Amino acid sequence: MVFSLTLSEEQCELRDWVHGFAADVLRPAAREWDEAEQTPWPIIQEAAKIGLYGFESLAETWSDPTGLSLPILNEELFWGDAGLAMSIMGTSLAVASIFAAGTGEQLAEWVPACFGDADEPQVAAFCTSEPDAGSDVSSMRTRARYDEASDEWIISGQKAWITNGGIANIHVVTAAVEPDLGSRGQAAFVVPPGSRGVESTRKIAKLGLRASHTADVFFDDVRVPGRCLLGGKERLDRRLAAAREGRSARSQAAMATFEVSRPTVGAQALGIARAAYEYARDYARERVQFGRPLTEHQAIAFALADLHTEIDAARLLVWRAASMARTDQPHTAGEGSMAKLKAGEVAVAATEKAVQILGGAGYSREHPVERMYRDAKLYTIFEGTSEIQRLVIARAITGASLR
Ligand SMILES: Cc1cc2nc3c(=O)[nH]c(=O)nc-3n(C[C@H](O)[C@H](O)[C@H](O)COP(=O)(O)OP(=O)(O)OC[C@H]3O[C@@H](n4cnc5c(N)ncnc54)[C@H](O)[C@@H]3O)c2cc1C
Repeated sequence: MVFSLTLSEEQCELRDWVHGFAADVLRPAAREWDEAEQTPWPIIQEAAKIGLYGFESLAETWSDPTGLSLPILNEELFWGDAGLAMSIMGTSLAVASIFAAGTGEQLAEWVPACFGDADEPQVAAFCTSEPDAGSDVSSMRTRARYDEASDEWIISGQKAWITNGGIANIHVVTAAVEPDLGSRGQAAFVVPPGSRGVESTRKIAKLGLRASHTADVFFDDVRVPGRCLLGGKERLDRRLAAAREGRSARSQAAMATFEVSRPTVGAQALGIARAAYEYARDYARERVQFGRPLTEHQAIAFALADLHTEIDAARLLVWRAASMARTDQPHTAGEGSMAKLKAGEVAVAATEKAVQILGGAGYSREHPVERMYRDAKLYTIFEGTSEIQRLVIARAITGASLR
């Protein structure tokens, strides 16, 4: 279904409901959790209690045939506060990878365990990045070996920068099964709760998104049952055989997965950008200098006009890419990357400008724009840096084999 710029009644209800939670629960708690740098379990639980965190909520959002509900939900939640919102949405990265690669039985077995329940919520982690494999995922060193006698996979390696790493109930881990095949020789595995050999010793102290837990995770000969290989062994064997013969479409499949997740991440950046813009606009209406509100000074008014325009432009790219991904339209120009690139860069520019518009107040922790400024920077880095997005777009539009 093609998306409409006039939102449906259900989409408006979703937007208003999530906005209410973001305004009433996230915004007032944001500073405290940012400074505590701790996982905000009470907030996750509150989201779970009202049905905003959990399998049903996610399934309902994903089922929107226009694809717009997911970006709408993310924009509103991240408008409230990015660190708290990531603590709520971080699990969906792992869930998305189970959806992308798993069988029906695997979805039924593992997705509920990612969320837990309202009384005891759990989180999940998606573990791909490594100390020496960030942008270049094909150079991953984590290995998975199959032990036929026990029908178990044995996973060994180190993952870096993992959202919810070490505190997750479920870790979804990508590993090389046939390293010589690069990214075509990789597979994803569910590491169930309580698996021996999973260790996380270093939580990373960060610039922003401080309420969201980020850590290194070590997998030391971790044995997982055969059924934990997402997609199953038969499918993996077929895929590896095709890759060995050089007739695999694996890289296109990975690209398709990213095209789905990137608009969602773009929507998160958009939420931060809009929050900073709105805060600066409201402040500029009240603040008087040289006998007039700041909005009566053209330099400030034009800056606000530019931000408003850029944010709307980014939203159109995000919605288009989300709609294309949901309706399986080919991304011939890297539209998912365009959306993530634009929204990430707009978030950085908007938050920086918001700090500037508030002047000294913007630099103080009494106002949220300094936090938004710190949070926004992540969006030119993770889920593919801005340079990697440009690489994807440039390859798509020129056909050049850039590296
Ligand atoms: C807060 C946070 C949370 C994260 N959460 C997760 C998570 O849950 N799971 C997960 O798997 N990962 C996660 N990551 C990791 C993230 O995806 C990586 O940091 C990102 O992919 C970049 O990799 P890198 O940090 O190794 O940078 P590098 O790849 O070392 O890049 C360094 C610089 O070089 C540039 N560069 C690299 N290659 C090229 C090229 N070919 N052309 C031009 N420029 C290039 C990059 O754009 C960047 O500017 C997270 C990161 C952060 C900071």
